[in-house]
Amino acid sequence: MLPESSSESPSSVLDWVRTDLFIGGRWIPAPNGATFAVENPATGETLAHVADATAQLGLDALEAATLAQPQWAAVPPRRRAEILRRAHDLLLERTEQFALLITLEMGKSLAESRSEVAYAAGYLRWFAEEAVRIDGGWKVSEDGSARVLVMRQPVGPCLLITPWNAPLAMPARKIAPALAAGCTSVVKPAPQTPLTTNALVSLLVEAGLPDGAVNVVPTSHASALSEPLMADRRLRKVSFTGSTPVGRLLLAQAAQNVLRTSMELGGNAPFVVCADADLDAAVAGAMTAKLRNIGEACIAANRFYVHAEVAEEFAERLVERMSTLSLGVGTDPSTDLGPLIDDRQRRRVADLVEETVAGGARLRAGGAVPEGPGYFYPPTVITDVPADARIIREEIFGPVAAIQTFTTEAEALHAANDTEFGLVSYVYTQDLGRALRMVEQIETGMVGLNRGYVSDPSAPFGGVKQSGIGREGGSSGIDEYLEEKYVAIDTT
Ligand code: NAD
Repeated sequence: MLPESSSESPSSVLDWVRTDLFIGGRWIPAPNGATFAVENPATGETLAHVADATAQLGLDALEAATLAQPQWAAVPPRRRAEILRRAHDLLLERTEQFALLITLEMGKSLAESRSEVAYAAGYLRWFAEEAVRIDGGWKVSEDGSARVLVMRQPVGPCLLITPWNAPLAMPARKIAPALAAGCTSVVKPAPQTPLTTNALVSLLVEAGLPDGAVNVVPTSHASALSEPLMADRRLRKVSFTGSTPVGRLLLAQAAQNVLRTSMELGGNAPFVVCADADLDAAVAGAMTAKLRNIGEACIAANRFYVHAEVAEEFAERLVERMSTLSLGVGTDPSTDLGPLIDDRQRRRVADLVEETVAGGARLRAGGAVPEGPGYFYPPTVITDVPADARIIREEIFGPVAAIQTFTTEAEALHAANDTEFGLVSYVYTQDLGRALRMVEQIETGMVGLNRGYVSDPSAPFGGVKQSGIGREGGSSGIDEYLEEKYVAIDTT
C-alpha cells in the first residue's frame, strides 16, 4: 500500500515504489535478476534499479492479460467505474508523493508535476464516467426483414507503450479507457521513467483492480520485447505514444496481424501571432506553449510565426519574460524550469540551436549549456530564423523558441501547414473572421485559439497527418478500445 501522508522525502518515496515487474497480479523480479538503472536527470545520480523484462516475460504478461480478459470484460460497468473512480480519489490524496516521484525521475518542477497528477486523475475520473455509458444500437433493416442490433464490446488484450515526458498522464490516458472498455493490457513504460507507472499500478490494485487486468513490463530493450508481442495473435490492439519514427515501425508490425492501432506521435506546432493579436495574451500563451514541461511536450510550440509589424516587440517581451525564470533542480520550490531528460536530448537541442545560429539566425537569449551536474538547458529565443532551418522542420523538445515573420494571412497559413506533422497549432488574433478562417484551414487535430494550452480529459486529444491516428479522451476516447458487432435478427 502507498503512504498516505501529504509530504514525503525523496528517499521515503523511493522506498515505497515497487521496482519489479507486475504480471498476473504479482510483483516479480526478472528471473536472472537483471535490472536497469533509472537516473535523476537533475543530478545524474541513480534513483533505483528496475527489473529488466525479457521478451519471454513480455509474452508471460500477454498470457496473464489474455487469461484475465474474459473475467474483466464480464465485470459490470458500474464496478469497473468504481475502481477507476477510487483510483482517481486515491491519486489526488497522494498528490505530493506522486508529484515528487515524477520530478525525481523526469525532472520537471514540483508545481508542474502536481499539475500532471491532477491531469492524470482527470482521465481516471472521465473514463470512470464513460464506462457506464457504453451503448449500442437498434433499428429496423432497410427492407424491414430484420432487426439490426449493434453491440459494443472490448477489443481484447492491448499493448500500451508510453513515453517519458509525462510519466503519469501518458499511462493513465491509456490504462483508464482500456479498463473502462473492459480490456486488459500489457504496459511498457519508457525506460527513463518506469517508477511512476509502477506506482500508478500499485494504486489501481489498492482501488480493487483484479489480477491480470493490467500487467507492467519495464525493459531496457523495447523492440526485443515488443516485436514478439506484436506478432502474437492473442494481442488485439496497440496504443502507442512516442516519436513518429517508432510509430511508423509499430504500424508496419501491426499490419502483419491487422492489429487495431492508436498512435499519438510527434508534433511540430506552429504558433501564429497576427498583427491584431492581444500581445499580452500572445506572450503569456507563448510562455505556456513553449516552456510547459520544459518544452518536452508533443504539444509544445515549435515554430513561431509573428506578423512583421509586431515581431520585434513580441521577441523582446518573450526574452524579458524568459529571463525571470529560474533553472534548477525540480524539487527546489523556487525552480521554474527543471533539466532535460538526458544528455542525448540536451545535446540534440544544443546542436539545433548552434546550427541555426551558424546558419544566420540571431540568438536573443539562452543558448549556452550550463556547467555542472544535471542536463539543464536555458530558455532560449532565436529570431531571423531561415525558413529552411532544421529547427523549423524537426521537433525541438526543449525550451527553445525559433521565431520567423510573415506579412499576409495566406503566408502564415502556408508556413503553418508546411510540415508532415499535424498535432496542434496556436493562433492569436482578435479578428473573428480571421480566427475562423485560420481554424478551418490549419491542418492539425487541435488548435489553441488565443490560448497557449490544449488538453483536457473531456476533449479528443490527437493529431492528423504524421502526428497520429485516433484520439485519447473526449467522448470518442473509449471507442479506441471497443469493437462494434452487428447482429442481424430475422423477423420474417
Ligand atoms: P520514443 O518513440 O523514443 O519512445 C516512446 C516509447 O516507445 C518508449 O517506451 C520507448 O521505450 C518505446 N520504443 C522505442 N523504440 C521502440 C521500438 N522499436 N519498438 C517498440 N517500442 C519502442 O519517444 P520518446 O523519446 O520516449 O518520447 C518523445 C516523443 O513522444 C516525441 O516525439 C513526442 O512528440 C511524442 N509524444 C507524443 C504525444 C502525443 O500525444 N502525440 C505525447 C507525448 C509524447
